[in-house]
Amino acid sequence: MQSLKERDKKHLWHPLTQHKIHPEALPIIKAKGALLYDENENTYIDGIASWYTAMYGHCNDYILEKVQHQMQQLDQIVFASFTHEPAIKLSEELIKILPDNQEKIFFSDNGSTANEVGIKMALQYHFNRGEKRNTIVAFENGFHGDTFGAMSASGLSVYNGPFEDFFINVKRIPTPNSENIDSVIKELQECITTHQVAAFIYEPLVQGANTMHMFEAKYLNQILDICKDNTIITIADEVMTGFGKTGKTFASDYIETKPDIISMSKALTAGFVPMAITSCTQQIYDAFLDDSVGKAFFHAHTYSANPIACSVALAAIELLQSEEIQNNIHRITRSHKDFDAKIKNHPKIKRTRQTGVIYALDLDIEMDRYGKKRYEIFDHFMKNGVALRPLGSTVYILPPYVITQEQLQKVYDTIVELLENL
Ligand SMILES: *Cc1c(COP(=O)(O)O)cnc(C)c1O
Repeated sequence: MQSLKERDKKHLWHPLTQHKIHPEALPIIKAKGALLYDENENTYIDGIASWYTAMYGHCNDYILEKVQHQMQQLDQIVFASFTHEPAIKLSEELIKILPDNQEKIFFSDNGSTANEVGIKMALQYHFNRGEKRNTIVAFENGFHGDTFGAMSASGLSVYNGPFEDFFINVKRIPTPNSENIDSVIKELQECITTHQVAAFIYEPLVQGANTMHMFEAKYLNQILDICKDNTIITIADEVMTGFGKTGKTFASDYIETKPDIISMSKALTAGFVPMAITSCTQQIYDAFLDDSVGKAFFHAHTYSANPIACSVALAAIELLQSEEIQNNIHRITRSHKDFDAKIKNHPKIKRTRQTGVIYALDLDIEMDRYGKKRYEIFDHFMKNGVALRPLGSTVYILPPYVITQEQLQKVYDTIVELLENL
């Protein structure tokens, strides 16, 4: 019998992988809590919760129980003609925890489609009101996904080369900080006078794929206010930041001016199954109501509001609100702070940053995002039983909320060891 590694190579094409030069993928046969298990019974602490999805721990028993029940009850139904309680209940529970102005819930399959839906909603909002607006504003170096609309809005363009000629119209502004805020606002205002701006899409407070770049709520608030004044639909991409990671339920909770549209995925379904949601205000929804069918939102996915996925999301929201998980979020946040105080002046570190359970440090070395050095650092972590995926020279931790203090300490120790050996 060939090994899993050998069989993998025969037919599989992995994402974000140059198969000619990149090392083989590691087979994982089991996962529980914060741990991943390989074929040889080695364990790895999942320091990034499998791209910030499995926040309540892998194969969480509570979610398993709920999902098993749902699987025996109702598996799938066409959401274009039918409805079901898991979706209804999920809409009720989500609206309770979303920013106050959110009223309507629209389902899709992943973070990219959630943003695709948000962008389409914004464009059609203006269209339905008889206005032609054709430009989206986004932050430089943002990431919103890999489908066309989401990819166009994404500013991390190094790998978008083949597609750039086909992008939708997007204008970019820098993320704000104390030094550039005035010029960012000027750029935005210029853009508004020279273009028909339909929407502004942004990752609130933390740009995940952009090496966990962080910026302050008060500056974002200024930008959002200008958008509001100009009827520009604001779309908060909370695919990464949503569901507790920033210390509040949504990053938008730190910002006074609330978005018109919010996209969610990743931790929404706790690593069990793919699903995404785009929420919006009553005002957006109302612009689609008309006696003609033409003003309706004609966007659907076969698995929209899949009942099993909805039941997972419901269980995940229950867990998020539990005292245990809330305490864990505070524990991890404090623990990162302590670690940061010890480590931030290390000569091999350029800078560090933290928002909630998200912690990132930039190594003081030159390297490519997907270069050789990056793979060596990845190997160092894996050899020590810690699964962290450096983003170029940035090492970040975004652990499942259920990570034990001992496991978290091991993640820190492995980072310190890397620094000593750089
Ligand atoms: C992951 C991510 C996406 C894309 O989600 P997919 O499920 O991978 O399509 C979009 N926006 C942000 C902020 C993300 O972190």
